[in-house]
Amino acid sequence: MPATPTFAETAAEAWPPISGWGARARSAARAARIRLEALKQRRQTEPFVRCLYAHAVFPDTVPTFRAFLKAAKQEGEFVDTPTLRAIIADGRPSDGRFFHLSFDDGFASVYEAGGPVMEDERVPYIMFVATDLIDADPDTLAAYFAHMPAYQARVRTLDWDQAKAAATGIGEIGCHTRTHARLSKIGHDPARLTDEIAGAKAIIEGHIGQRCDSFAWPYGTASDIDEHGRAAIADAGFTSNFSAVRGAVRPGVTDVMDIPRHQLEFHWPLHELMVWARGFREA
Ligand SMILES: [Zn+2]
Repeated sequence: MPATPTFAETAAEAWPPISGWGARARSAARAARIRLEALKQRRQTEPFVRCLYAHAVFPDTVPTFRAFLKAAKQEGEFVDTPTLRAIIADGRPSDGRFFHLSFDDGFASVYEAGGPVMEDERVPYIMFVATDLIDADPDTLAAYFAHMPAYQARVRTLDWDQAKAAATGIGEIGCHTRTHARLSKIGHDPARLTDEIAGAKAIIEGHIGQRCDSFAWPYGTASDIDEHGRAAIADAGFTSNFSAVRGAVRPGVTDVMDIPRHQLEFHWPLHELMVWARGFREA
């Protein structure tokens, strides 16, 4: 009999509590720094372009998620990926204030719990999916979560019907490889690179019936991708590529194939989400 995976259906089930004296002390110090920053920050009135990303919107985090979207909309307009790309490529300093919101990996909660909120609030979003995780069998999910120590339990992933439904609404489907591969580890393997990048693009386009031209590379730091991976992404026809490096987006300066993003997760307190939305720690 195949093992039946049990899935985390709340944020508390998905992410482990902070344990150990040292980790708790570091976490408390970080929380204090963020609290101090929140007290210092003012509402944003200058132009900015800022990309934000998360992984999940569990049902228990919906109230915070909705409160965050409402607060952020007071300071900037959420734009979809083609609009973001146009703002960056335009090259002139924009006098607008813009957010872009994405979700990595392809967890079902983003569509199920977060989708109705984003439809309500008219906030466009893009889900960067690792295609092998969509409609995934238990063994594939087990292999993925074995490499994801951040989670203490498996998180349910989308099925293709949900992904397609998201893309016919206010959502977009972007590419995050097939297997959540670390591209810097497979840069020497052209066949594997093609499968993970052009292969995943074809799978998404086959299921969704729309062009997929946005990519986010797994793990997202500069050391998780190399020149072979970057070339394969451009060769496959992607016209934007997102990192997970915190930073400001600067029209005419930011490379559309290396767009910085701020991570946030919606089980964090609202003031912490706003600290990142206002560009804390931007280079
Ligand atoms: Zn990822």
